[in-house]
Amino acid sequence: MPLESSDSPFDSPREACGVIGIWEPSGSINLPDYLVLGLTELQHRGQESAGIAVCADGRIQTRVGMGKVREVFPHGATDLEGPVGIGHVRYSTTGSSTVQNAGPFLVGEHAGQVALAHNGNISNSEELRLMLGAAVLDTATDSEMVAHLLLAAQGTNFAEKIRVVLPLLRGAYSFVILSAGKVYGLRDPLGMRPLCLGRLGRGWILASETSAIEKLGGAYERDVRPGELVELGAEGLCSTQVAQSKRHAFCSFEYIYFAGAASTFDQRPVYSVRQALGRQLAREQPAPTADVVSGVPDSAVPAAIAYAAEAGLPYTEAFIKSRYSDRSFIKPDQRLRQLEVDLKYSVVRPNVEGKRVLLVDDSIVRGNTMKRAIAALRNYGAREVHLRISSPPLRNPCFYGIDIGSDSDLIAADADERQIAAYVGADSLGYLSLHGLAQAITLGTGEEAQTAFHNNHCYGCFNKHGYPYSTHSAFDDREKLAQA
Ligand code: SF4
Repeated sequence: MPLESSDSPFDSPREACGVIGIWEPSGSINLPDYLVLGLTELQHRGQESAGIAVCADGRIQTRVGMGKVREVFPHGATDLEGPVGIGHVRYSTTGSSTVQNAGPFLVGEHAGQVALAHNGNISNSEELRLMLGAAVLDTATDSEMVAHLLLAAQGTNFAEKIRVVLPLLRGAYSFVILSAGKVYGLRDPLGMRPLCLGRLGRGWILASETSAIEKLGGAYERDVRPGELVELGAEGLCSTQVAQSKRHAFCSFEYIYFAGAASTFDQRPVYSVRQALGRQLAREQPAPTADVVSGVPDSAVPAAIAYAAEAGLPYTEAFIKSRYSDRSFIKPDQRLRQLEVDLKYSVVRPNVEGKRVLLVDDSIVRGNTMKRAIAALRNYGAREVHLRISSPPLRNPCFYGIDIGSDSDLIAADADERQIAAYVGADSLGYLSLHGLAQAITLGTGEEAQTAFHNNHCYGCFNKHGYPYSTHSAFDDREKLAQA
C-alpha cells in the first residue's frame, strides 16, 4: 500500500530493516562506498536511520545517523577504509527512532569487537535482556542485545559463539555480523526474513535483496538457507547448517509488497510473482464494467499491468508519483502532513476523466489512504472506480518484524468486502483468494502449489493458520515445529 497515510503510521505495512555485508580483499573496490551504495538500493526497507561498520587492521569503526542513506552519507564514506564491512538501514519496530538505536551496533574492545546488524524481530528479547542484566545494555534494540550475547558466549572461535547463542533466540531474523576481519550471515531456522549471497570481485557479498548485490556489479548465487551460518573470510566461504526445521516460513509479504520489484528470492523473481498475482486476480475478480486498468504506484504496478493484459483492457497511469516530495520530512501539523501525502501523488486527468477505472493495489491496511485516492479519482472525473487487491484481506497482526499494526488498525479484521468498499468509496471491491496467492507465489498450480506454499511461507497476517508458530504461546512451540 504505497500511498502513505497522514494520520496513521499503519496505513502501509513497514519493513523492519535492510542489511548488507561485504568481504572483498583485493583492494579493487572502495568498500565503505560500496556499502553506502548497497544500502541506497535497500532504502525501501528502512528510512529512519542508516549506518555502516568497517574493519581495517583488526579495528572496527562505525558511522551511523538518522535519515535516509544519502542524508547520512551525503559524500559517501570517504573517511573509512577496509576490506570488510557491514551496513544497515532501519525502520524501528523495537526501540525508538533515535540515533542511539541506529545500527550497526558495535560492542567489545580490540580483537573482541563485534558489530551486528539485523532484520527481523526477536520475540523473547525481554527474557534475554533480563538474562544479560540491564546495566550491560545502552539501547532498547534487539541488535545490541544479540551483539552482547555473542560477546559473552563461550567458544573457541566466533562461529562457535554463534552456535551457543542461536538456540536462545526466538523469532524471525537475518543477521550480518562483523568480527575479527570476517563477515558472518545467519538466517533463522524458518527463514522468515531474507538474506541473499553473491560474489563480488574476488570476494563475497550478503544482502537482504539480490538487487543490492547486482547493482554493485556482483553476481547473485543463492539465498542463505534457513538456519545456515555463512562465514566470509580469507578461507573463502564456509557454510554450516546450525539449525534445522522441516517447515520454513518465508514472509509472503516480501513478494507482495516489501521487496524491490527487481529482486529475486529462492530463484523466483519478485516482478514475475507480482505479475502472477495480477493475472490470478483478473481470473478471480474480473472487471465488471471497466474502461481502463491502473495500478497504485509503485509496488502494485506489475500486478496491474498483468491484470490488464489478462482482462484484455488497456493499462493507464491514473496516478503519477512526484520525484521531489519527501515523505520522511516531519511536518508540524496534521493538515501539512496530509498535503504532503497529496503532493506525492498526482491524478492524471486525461487518463481517468469520464472513464470507468479499475484500480489495482497490493493491500489495504486501514483504508484511509485508499479512501483519499478514490475520492481524488472521482474529483478528476472518474465515472466509476472498481478496486482490486492483489492479496487476501489483511486480518491479523505480524509478530515477526513487520509493522502492520494491531487487529484494531486493520479494516478487514472485522469488516467484509461490501463494508470496506463502502468505506473507501469504491463501486466494487475484490481481493485475491488465499488459494490464488499460493499459486502466484509458488508460480505453480494445484495441490502441489498449496502444499509448497504452506510448507515454505508465512501468511499469518491473512489467515491465522499461516503463522509458523502458535499465536498464543508465541514462539514457545518452536521446537515442536522444528521436529514436526
Ligand atoms: S505475518 Fe504477514 S507480514 Fe508478518 S511475516 Fe508473516 S506474512 Fe510476513
